Amino acid sequence: MTIYITMHDAWEVEDAANQENLTNQLLCGRMNCELCEREVERLTVHHLIPRQKNGHHGPKINICSACHRQIHTLFDNTRLAQELNTPEKLKSEPQMWNFLSWVKKQQPNKRIKVNRKRS
Ligand SMILES: [Zn+2]
Ligand SMILES: [Zn+2]
Repeated sequence: MTIYITMHDAWEVEDAANQENLTNQLLCGRMNCELCEREVERLTVHHLIPRQKNGHHGPKINICSACHRQIHTLFDNTRLAQELNTPEKLKSEPQMWNFLSWVKKQQPNKRIKVNRKRS
């Protein structure tokens, strides 16, 4: 199906925006991603309302790096804050839904490259 290409790391995008150390955002252990529900060794913290949009103390979800990258590849912070500010809304967004149905079938610890273009 889709050809996955390497792109800049979305963590860097978010990190540059909030100037917070990336290592603070990693959780270790065996946990499940709140979006794709895969069990992975590391999760990252995603602010449902980006901190640029006053979401600093807002709700967060713990998600795998593949889902996290995909979110920031597909959506900008304005759209995230206004339309995709709950896990349910993110999951039901059509492009995200497509991604999740694909990624659920992938090995959790395989590095996933996200696709910037719509397939
Ligand atoms: Zn995930
Ligand atoms: Zn994020």
